[in-house]
Amino acid sequence: MVSGPRKVVGWCVTCGAEAEMVPVDEAAILRRVDSRTIFRWVEAEQVHASETANGLLLICLNSLS
Ligand SMILES: [Zn+2]
Repeated sequence: MVSGPRKVVGWCVTCGAEAEMVPVDEAAILRRVDSRTIFRWVEAEQVHASETANGLLLICLNSLS
């Protein structure tokens, strides 16, 4: 495993553009909350989320900062 933020560039539907995306656990670390909080934000549509083909939920960094 490499250290550092596991950012990927993905398509954010909500932004309608390519955006830097991070996994839920990474988003939780960045915002110093637990991952359940991130899922709650996703459900409340407070953050942009996009599911990858293999079922991984990615959070748009634009909506996190
Ligand atoms: Zn976005």
